[in-house]
Amino acid sequence: MSQTLQAIRGMNDILPDEAELWEQFEETVRSWLHSYGYRPIRMPLVEPTPLFARAIGAVTDIVEKEMYSFTDSLNGEQLTLRPEGTAGCVRAVMQHNLLYDGPKRLWYQGPMFRHERPQKGRYRQFHQIGVEALGLVGPDIDAEQIAMCQRLWDDLGLQDIRLELNSLGQVEERQQHRSALIAHFEKHADQLDADAQRRLHSNPLRILDSKNPAMQEIVEAAPRLIDYLGEQSLQHFAGVQSLLKELNIPYRINPRLVRGLDYYNLTVFEWVTDSLGAQGTVCAGGRYDGLIAQLGGKPAPACGFAMGVERLLALWQAQGGQLETVGLDVYLVQQGAAAQSLAFRVAEGLRDNGYAVQLHCGGGSFKSQMKRADASGASFAVIIGDDEAAAGEVSLKPLRSAGEQQRISVDELADELGERLFAWEEENGSL
Ligand code: ATP
Ligand code: MG
Repeated sequence: MSQTLQAIRGMNDILPDEAELWEQFEETVRSWLHSYGYRPIRMPLVEPTPLFARAIGAVTDIVEKEMYSFTDSLNGEQLTLRPEGTAGCVRAVMQHNLLYDGPKRLWYQGPMFRHERPQKGRYRQFHQIGVEALGLVGPDIDAEQIAMCQRLWDDLGLQDIRLELNSLGQVEERQQHRSALIAHFEKHADQLDADAQRRLHSNPLRILDSKNPAMQEIVEAAPRLIDYLGEQSLQHFAGVQSLLKELNIPYRINPRLVRGLDYYNLTVFEWVTDSLGAQGTVCAGGRYDGLIAQLGGKPAPACGFAMGVERLLALWQAQGGQLETVGLDVYLVQQGAAAQSLAFRVAEGLRDNGYAVQLHCGGGSFKSQMKRADASGASFAVIIGDDEAAAGEVSLKPLRSAGEQQRISVDELADELGERLFAWEEENGSL
């Protein structure tokens, strides 16, 4: 196929076998969110570029180099494919004044776009499930969000995901720490790599995030943000931790956990697994009390997290997650003009009764149609030839169990099918 007809690198097709797995996953996720009182919200995939620059921060990986931005050729507006969901969600909350009657718990899902180097677990179009609680000062909501993640891992049967926790304090505390950090790294400027040098004065906190082995020593020796936290920040952090202890959720405090986005404060957390290689963070989040005000809204506290769907699904499959197939009930084989009009009626009648029916289209011999019926995975074939049509009957043939083909009247079909599917399920468990 010519190059131009291939999908863009790092943007994946999700083919039916896999897409069904996604749907099953999404159903679990939906009922999990419902059970915590979260309501869905859907935002556009495209937002004005300045939203992300202001919300995420100009000197972050995302804004500096990962955004798909373009100029709307019709009106010259600067637009960006959303790289994450929090900015758009908060924009929507402000625009529609959703906090007028109190806190809101919201969630969304869908594709996000980042121009990164594609590799396993890292794509240019990837999917997130985002969860945001707005208007709550915590630390109870922080702890509840962490506990909800734990429940989802349990619901999905996921193991070996550990919780890393840190507090980023408040802006003033971070500023003091920042000065100390810059002083520390300036002392060791000769050991900084190009990335760190570039960030030294723009975003020194991110140097702590560095994975460069050559820099580990000076990073380890750097002043710790936690030592700069004031009374209130420490209390909030202690509050989160004591709730986690009560809930029996193990965690590790990771002083180097700083998160890639500027808008976080106080609690930040990541759920990490070693089972996925380098791309081991499956979920990340924290508090972002300053964001709404930063975007020009009436200040309101907030916290949230986002899960990487591709990474979670990879983990789920690696740990034995399987598709519970809900197959077709009936493949409807039909041949002849009289048979065709009856076949349509029979198929619709079965669907009225709640059965999943695939009607054979496109003609062909009985033999080739029966092959399709076998391959479809349906439990039964319903066969209508002109013979059956003339008698107002159909032939019912089990495809996945022993048993005779049986001729019955059209009126009896739905009941007979129900009984036989029921009997089959009794014997074999669900279909
Ligand atoms: P990373 O450090 O892996 O780049 P991040 O800090 O940029 O992650 P967030 O912006 O916090 O990631 O996004 C939340 C989650 O979304 C991540 O923990 C991860 O599971 C997932 N994610 C982020 N970027 C990608 C990507 N390019 N491809 C697939 N999943 C991603
Ligand atoms: Mg990233």
